[in-house]
Amino acid sequence: MSTPKTEADCLFCRIVAGDVPAEVVHATERTVAFRDINAQAPTHVLVVPRDHYADAAELAAGDPEATAELVRTAAAVATAEGHPDDYRLVFNTGAGAGQTVFHTHLHVLAGRDLAWPPG
Ligand code: 5GP
Ligand code: ZN
Repeated sequence: MSTPKTEADCLFCRIVAGDVPAEVVHATERTVAFRDINAQAPTHVLVVPRDHYADAAELAAGDPEATAELVRTAAAVATAEGHPDDYRLVFNTGAGAGQTVFHTHLHVLAGRDLAWPPG
């Protein structure tokens, strides 16, 4: 098995490792899903790869299977939360687009009307 890619000062690496507490709702071989600490919808879960990649494009280039697993996990979370057909998936990429944690994370939002375009 390859060595996991982690960064010591990365918040989401620390959550994956269990060093920072989080409400984990789903876990797979390559992903962990936990509730966002500042929920923007009744369901607001972050799905992250266990390995550290800074953003979605880096993950897709470095680990396509984990990228697909992120989306499959997101769908499983939405279904488990009672929203199998109506949910939003978001990758904020870059500070100018609202990314604040530079470990790839897929937001799963559901449980209320979601306006378009987003703010
Ligand atoms: P971004 O703004 O990078 O797209 O999303 C980062 C998300 O991480 C935000 O929605 C923020 O509320 C969430 N977040 C920040 N710190 C923590 C934390 O310590 N625990 C959890 N569960 N979520 C966090
Ligand atoms: Zn990380």
